[in-house]
Amino acid sequence: MTYKPALLIQKQAKTMQETLLDWVNHNTHHANLHGLHRFAKLLCSAFEGIADTVDIVDLPLITTLNAKAYPQTQTLGPAIVASKRPEAPVQWYIGGHYDTVFPGDSAFQQANWLASDVIGGPGVLDMKAGILVMLAALKAFESSPHASQIGWRVVLNPDEEIGSPASSGLIEAQAKACALGFIFEPALDSEGTWAGARGGSARYTLMVRGQAAHVGRNFHEGRNAIVQCALWIQKLAALNHDFPQCAINVGVIRGGEAVNQVPDLAVAYVDVRAPTPRDLAAIEAAMASVLVNQDSDYALTWQRTQGRTPKLLAGTQQQLLDWSQMYLASHHIKVSWRDTGGCCDGNNLSALGVPNIDTLGACGGLIHTTQEWLAVPSMVDKAIEAAWLWHGLAAHDSFRLPSCSA
Ligand SMILES: [Zn+2]
Repeated sequence: MTYKPALLIQKQAKTMQETLLDWVNHNTHHANLHGLHRFAKLLCSAFEGIADTVDIVDLPLITTLNAKAYPQTQTLGPAIVASKRPEAPVQWYIGGHYDTVFPGDSAFQQANWLASDVIGGPGVLDMKAGILVMLAALKAFESSPHASQIGWRVVLNPDEEIGSPASSGLIEAQAKACALGFIFEPALDSEGTWAGARGGSARYTLMVRGQAAHVGRNFHEGRNAIVQCALWIQKLAALNHDFPQCAINVGVIRGGEAVNQVPDLAVAYVDVRAPTPRDLAAIEAAMASVLVNQDSDYALTWQRTQGRTPKLLAGTQQQLLDWSQMYLASHHIKVSWRDTGGCCDGNNLSALGVPNIDTLGACGGLIHTTQEWLAVPSMVDKAIEAAWLWHGLAAHDSFRLPSCSA
C-alpha cells in the first residue's frame, strides 16, 4: 500500500477552512463556560469519525483568590479525550487546547479574511487551526500501513492559556504511558519553526495587609497596604538586574476600594520565567531575601501558586528532534527549531519524561493580540508534515519505549 498523505490532506483543504471560520466565531475564553461546553460538542463530532472513543471529561475545580484575597473555587470547562487503539503496545499523546485568551466581552470575536490566503481572528492560529491540522494529519496517518502499530489519545484542554491548572492531572494520567507526545501549538514563526528548549515558569501571589482608616477622620491610624506593597514589588523588579536571562514580571496588582479610604489590602501577582530549574530556584531564594517584613504594622505573605518545569534539550528529546529533521528532509520537508521562553503543555510532558514536539500547528503571527493571523496554506503544509512524521516514527524502533526510556 502506498502512503500518500499529501493527496488526502489537500482534498480536505476547503472543509478545513470552512470549519475554521465557524470555530473561530465561537468564543472559547477559559471563563466562558457556556461557550466551552458548546464548543466541546463540536470537537466531539469532529473526532467521532476517526477515534474509537470520544469522551467529554469534567475537570476538578481550581482554587483562585477573590477580590478580597480569600480562596474561592472556580469551575472550568471540560476536556475532550479521543482515543484510538488503546490496546496497541505503543501509545502516543496528541494534545492541544481549545481555550483562547479573548473574553466573551472582547471586541475581537470574529474571523475575517485579511488577504486571499490570510485569516485573522481570536484563536485562529492559537490554536483552532492547530486542532484542524491535527485532525487532518490523523485522518491521513490512519491510511499509513504502520498506523496499526500505534495507539493514540488526543487530549484537548480548556485551560492551557492559564497554565492548565485543572487539566494537568488529566494530561499526566493520559501521557505517562505514552512513548511520545505531539502538541499542535502554532509554529514559532511564519517559516514553521518548532520550539526547541522551553523556559520554565513560576507564578507567585504576594499579599500585603495593613490597616484601613477613613482619610478625613483618622488617616494617621491607617496603614496603606498599596504603598507598602509597592515598595516590595520595586525590590522584586530590581532582581531582574541579577538574572539577565530571566524575567520577573509583576503583571497584576489589586488593592483599594475607595479613594477616601486607606486600603488595608494589596495583592500582587508575579510571573517568573527562567531557562533552567536552577535559575528558578535561585530567583525564589532571591525573592525570599527581599520579601522580608520588618514592620509589625503590616502583614506580608507570599506563595508560589503555579509553575512549569523548563523543557530541556537532551537525551531522547534531542534525538527525537534530530531524527525527525533527518526523516522529514528525506520527504523534502525542511524543519528547524529554536529555543523560546514561552511555556506550553510540552513543558508538562517533558516533566513526565515524555519526549515531544509541541509546535506542530499552523503558521502565522501575533497570537494573544487582536492582530492574530493565520497563513491559511500552512494548515495543509503542516498537516502533511505531521502525517509524514508519524508514518516515519511509527516504523522506527528507537522511539517505541514508554517514557521511562528518556
Ligand atoms: Zn496556545
